[in-house]
Amino acid sequence: MKATPFMQLRLILLGLIPLVLISPAWSYTKAKQEVSDLKTRNFLTQLSTDTPKTDLYKKDIPTPETFQQVLKEAYETFKGVNEGKNADYIPFLAKADPNLFGIVIATVDGKVYEIGDSKYPFSMQSVSKVFTFAHVLQTLGSTAVEEKIGVNATGLPFNSLIAIELNETRSVNPLVNAGAITTVSFVPGNTPEDRWNQIIGTMSDFAGRPLSVQEEVYRSESETNLRNRGIVQLLDSYKKLGSDPLESLDLYTRQCSIEVTARDLALMSATLANGGVNPITSKRVLAQNYVPKVLAVMLTNGLYEDSGTWAYQVGLPAKSGVSGGIIAVVPGKFAIATYSPPLDQAGNSFRGQKAIEYITSKLGVNIFSGATSRTQVASYPKQGGQ
Ligand code: GLN
Repeated sequence: MKATPFMQLRLILLGLIPLVLISPAWSYTKAKQEVSDLKTRNFLTQLSTDTPKTDLYKKDIPTPETFQQVLKEAYETFKGVNEGKNADYIPFLAKADPNLFGIVIATVDGKVYEIGDSKYPFSMQSVSKVFTFAHVLQTLGSTAVEEKIGVNATGLPFNSLIAIELNETRSVNPLVNAGAITTVSFVPGNTPEDRWNQIIGTMSDFAGRPLSVQEEVYRSESETNLRNRGIVQLLDSYKKLGSDPLESLDLYTRQCSIEVTARDLALMSATLANGGVNPITSKRVLAQNYVPKVLAVMLTNGLYEDSGTWAYQVGLPAKSGVSGGIIAVVPGKFAIATYSPPLDQAGNSFRGQKAIEYITSKLGVNIFSGATSRTQVASYPKQGGQ
């Protein structure tokens, strides 16, 4: 029987199916399609997004004198502490002066209190993960993030490959490397430039000023990020990424290299404390409904394998980065940001943790204490433990 042109076309199309099925681009399209299906199941997007309720709490914000006093005490108490070691797996970070130490508090009503090296520029590193997570959460919805990226604690180091093997979501959560790169891979956009513009635009909106990349850090990390290359290949083998692995890794590396000061970080996290509105520019950066989701993941994962200990000792959602920055959020009131390069075993700034623990304890703002800053009388450290 002679094949008609129509039959020939059908045969050609049938022949193409296996090609389409094995193409990696097809797997990214499929992952993106699944995300967009999950988007429709996300009831939070239907809720109102612009009714900040933080006014309720503003009356409990400590006075300027209290903030200044507690900052001074924390700075003086810990500036001479020489424990910890700079990150050295990214060569540029090993060169940072270990004596740098800055602390900043920014309140939801736009006041900023600072001490030490609060204006010294450094790269965000993992602190950046919080804000891309916030952007993707807002863009794709909470169901897609929960199912495609994951929100559970790994209990393992930030660059763990075992965590990918052990957890069915693979990427595990947006605040470890695997989850953060997966998060970047789902930033919507047709080109890497499109997606980068959203990432840097989000960071800048949170900070309230235009931010840019520290090119030397970006180069230093791009040349040495062999482990992260392993992570993306493994994620790709599980078809977990929303776009090309190396392209996503490059965007992730660039976002980790964004330059900030402790003051910037304080304002970025004060935006989270203020229900998603930047307290200086008054721009809404994140819908109010998503703020508790971001803070919940910060509490359970922000300090990697030490997140449980942190929640137990300090009781605030926080996030650290290997360059030495830490942010901590007191919802509805203020945020604290610290910068000090030497890190502990888990990769969290040693002095930064101590300073935030001191300030939190003094001001009585552990979110689980139920006490307001007015009623709480704290001493630090307490005799006989807390
Ligand atoms: N850019 C760093 C990395 O990928 C970020 C790690 C961190 O700050 N914990 O290893």
